[in-house]
Amino acid sequence: MALLSTIDFPPIIKKNDGFAHGRIDLHSHTHCSDGSLSPQTLIDRAVNYQIAVLAITDHDTIAGFDIAQEYISEKNIPIKLISGIEVSTAWQGFEIHIVGLNINTENAAIQQLITEQQQAREQRAVTIGEKLAKCGFPDAYHDAKKLAGEGSITRAHFAKVLYQQGHVGTMQKAFDQYLGKKGRNTQKAYVKPTWCTIEEAVTAIHAAGGSAVMAHPIRYDLSAKWLRRLIVHFKENQGDALEVVLPQMNPQQRQTMLNYCLEYDLHASMGSDFHHPNKWSDLGRNLTLPDEAKPVWAMWT
Ligand code: AMP
Ligand code: MN
Ligand code: MN
Ligand code: MN
Repeated sequence: MALLSTIDFPPIIKKNDGFAHGRIDLHSHTHCSDGSLSPQTLIDRAVNYQIAVLAITDHDTIAGFDIAQEYISEKNIPIKLISGIEVSTAWQGFEIHIVGLNINTENAAIQQLITEQQQAREQRAVTIGEKLAKCGFPDAYHDAKKLAGEGSITRAHFAKVLYQQGHVGTMQKAFDQYLGKKGRNTQKAYVKPTWCTIEEAVTAIHAAGGSAVMAHPIRYDLSAKWLRRLIVHFKENQGDALEVVLPQMNPQQRQTMLNYCLEYDLHASMGSDFHHPNKWSDLGRNLTLPDEAKPVWAMWT
């Protein structure tokens, strides 16, 4: 896969041109991880939502990119697909997600990282399964594995199994009662993951020619002091951008994230983190980068 150049990256995505020429969404999932749509169905949905530029950023896998790109080429669909990934990392006991954008999917360093992360996912899934068996759900691992198929197995698959089998009333409750961690408080089937470090994720993304973006900084339940520490650590390890716009963010949160970008000289990204159709968010909806932000895609031209 060739990286973007000025030639194949037309001025469709000038800052805030999203609505005139199509929208930009740089964070989405398919059934190659815990999204519910196939890459092809995601592309069809992106067309319906007038997306001009879309990044597929599945958890610790790039398997969706080739499938989606082939479909786009075959059907001559006017979407610029950005190759992406969302890497789970461990930092100070927190799980921090680093999105890699515009990566060369054939790069050996990113592929090596993916192999290691997949091993960590598999091991964790086995242990989650053992813990859930002790909670009275002996088939949880088997069922979650079946649901994940060939894709990255995630806690969302376990949550879906518990929900579909009627053991919890919502997927959120599966996290609240079994799979999750709130502060220092871990639930019965929580397993400490063995993810790579932020530095390792950023290094592999850079080796693959991509940009490293801290995903959804508002979602880590960090105090202002700890969030600043995290952003400083990310910057010290050559991180490039923060996701400053998610559909659910209020204007004050967007302003706070923009201020961090300006203070630490970081670029800005935006995305829906779309997993499956729901009432609250969809591809490209409610996403506009503030005027003062340096868009992450400015790094690609
Ligand atoms: P994993 O990467 O295996 O830890 O799986 C985490 C995924 O589960 C996230 O990417 C979300 O899509 C989903 N999820 C849904 N609700 C929660 C929650 N309350 N806490 C953590 N993850 C959640
Ligand atoms: Mn997810
Ligand atoms: Mn995430
Ligand atoms: Mn995501």
